[in-house]
Amino acid sequence: MTNHNENIFPVFHEIHGRTEKETLLKQRSKVIWLTGLSGSGKTTIAKHLEEILFGKGFLTQILDGDNIRSGINNNLGFSDADRFENIRRIAEVSKLFVNCGVITINCFISPTEEMRDLARKIIGSDDFIEIYVNAPLRVCEERDVKGLYSKARRGEIKEFTGISSPFETPENIDIEIRTDLLTIEESVKQVLDMILPRIIC
Ligand code: ADP
Repeated sequence: MTNHNENIFPVFHEIHGRTEKETLLKQRSKVIWLTGLSGSGKTTIAKHLEEILFGKGFLTQILDGDNIRSGINNNLGFSDADRFENIRRIAEVSKLFVNCGVITINCFISPTEEMRDLARKIIGSDDFIEIYVNAPLRVCEERDVKGLYSKARRGEIKEFTGISSPFETPENIDIEIRTDLLTIEESVKQVLDMILPRIIC
């Protein structure tokens, strides 16, 4: 494959920079990366969080399987290489949002430390807030929000995280939210209390 990088000339110095955009939006942009098993509560927390932040005047963008795998990553499957490429592109897209002053709230299982490290490296550790949304597998399986655990148990989904593919406990988190022990409101409040000081101008 031809490498076209030598023919690309970034012009970022000629246009409004991130700081100006953050000032315009009256916020500091970050990537809030929610990692955890399917059914642990990432989407639920993200939606509530966006609603509250919106009410407080913060501009956010949720990134999740629905808007990423159906669009920019619709050519990717679930092989190891594709899972990495999935995370790499998500991280690059998040970085564009951050450079535009927007806070992204990312809901991805991102099951291995290597994947989360890749995302942190691309986005930059100052802008990367890692939240472990944690409920025991038993609880997630009982919830079975999308019926995926039943399918995985029946062997209809191969390499399903928690069942036939590992989830590595995150080592570098900013906070862990135990959604089996907290209500949704309590979970969201814990996240909010942690991120607000980092996004207020
Ligand atoms: P994920 O996005 O991680 O796959 P979802 O947010 O789709 O998970 O599903 C989580 C389920 O758990 C929802 O049905 C939600 O109502 C329920 N739930 C119970 N307690 C909590 C909590 N404290 N935080 C988030 N979700 C919770």
